[in-house]
Amino acid sequence: MLLTCEQCQTIFRIDDSAIAATGQQVRCSVCQHVWHVEPHQPVSDDSNRLLGDVLKRLRLPALTLIMIAAICTVIYAFRGPLTAAHPQLLSAYQFIGLSISPNLSVLQVENLSADYERNILRIRGQLKNNYHLTSHASALEIKILSQTGEILAIERMVPEDKVIEAGQTTAFFLQVDIDNATDAQVVVTPISQNIISR
Ligand SMILES: [Zn+2]
Repeated sequence: MLLTCEQCQTIFRIDDSAIAATGQQVRCSVCQHVWHVEPHQPVSDDSNRLLGDVLKRLRLPALTLIMIAAICTVIYAFRGPLTAAHPQLLSAYQFIGLSISPNLSVLQVENLSADYERNILRIRGQLKNNYHLTSHASALEIKILSQTGEILAIERMVPEDKVIEAGQTTAFFLQVDIDNATDAQVVVTPISQNIISR
């Protein structure tokens, strides 16, 4: 290790083992100044301590990063239910370029009925949210088929509500002016569309 005299600044090279583990007095051979010297810490200890300090200091930021990543995952994965429950978030999602569309796999058409009277076909039913969180309602495609399966008309409509609470339904109703639909079949299918902020 190198020792610098506190008084005359002369530098001495001495063996590490020459200094007692608890430190000791040394005398400068040039100016006779006496001072106390602590033993030299091995470099590896220093770097270990430094690494420990760095890790300690990094622990909080690392946890913060993990939390931010977790929050981002939730924000991404649950963007449908989140924006369904809080439509004011839609514009934020749009701002960061994430599109939102209804989760068709949780939507189900129920209680579909069609009445035909004097060339007017009235179609009504409900769209159910089978998910455990609020979901976006989707638009619906309505196919009117003849008995032989020929397409008489295709219509699109949106149900009454834009979002559906968990396990709840929203109603839809459509009235179509159409000929020869006495024995028509009606097929209603939820369809995907980008949901934009409103
Ligand atoms: Zn000296």
